[in-house]
Amino acid sequence: MLFRQMFDSASSTYTYLLASRAGGEALVIDPVKEQLGQYLTVIRELGLRLVHAIDTHIHADHITALGDLRDATACATIMGERSKADCISRRVHDNELVIVDGIALRAVYTPGHTNESFSFVLNPTEPTAVFTGDVLLIRGSGRTDFQGGDPRQSYDSIVNKLFSLPDATTLYPAHDYKGWTASSIGEEKNFNPRLAGKTEAEYIEIMNGLHLPNPKMMDAAIPANLACGQPSTPLRRQG
Ligand code: FE
Repeated sequence: MLFRQMFDSASSTYTYLLASRAGGEALVIDPVKEQLGQYLTVIRELGLRLVHAIDTHIHADHITALGDLRDATACATIMGERSKADCISRRVHDNELVIVDGIALRAVYTPGHTNESFSFVLNPTEPTAVFTGDVLLIRGSGRTDFQGGDPRQSYDSIVNKLFSLPDATTLYPAHDYKGWTASSIGEEKNFNPRLAGKTEAEYIEIMNGLHLPNPKMMDAAIPANLACGQPSTPLRRQG
């Protein structure tokens, strides 16, 4: 399998490109608008045909490249069924399969960071990796204080859904701020400081006590992402 993890340093976002082979069909997960050129370069150089661009959720910290990729490649744009974005060509349900040229992803509804977040399990009959968006991060978890976030739902999504995957399943989140690139379900069960040995009540207390500042791009990013990164009015770029 062809697998590329790409990084947007301004928002510490990971984007994933998957294809079964060079010259075949590909899909991308959580692309960032500023990195469009990089995606198009690797797609061209490897002779790929992009057929799906997926966002795990409406991001608040960067603008998505879904709309730009659709315009450039005619790919389908995919989000979970609860997404409020008005530009999505396919809305997946819990447990629905997304299949591209021999690569299978199972969509799993994992609310908590936002109320419309989905994760995607690679090779669902024998899971090898999971793309969690922001609900489960490496040694952390996505904030639960806006966009319909809910610490109780976050705990349920992580402990009852993601932690039911095999321990060896590789975890690929949408962000990392410390230089980690991947983890595993087993590692997070044992070493995630918010979850390992913690009760649901303790997790909720931790999340409710974070008091994080809003993301710098939030006021621009959320409305832009509801239009797949192509708002009808020009964006005022933040310094
Ligand atoms: Fe997020």
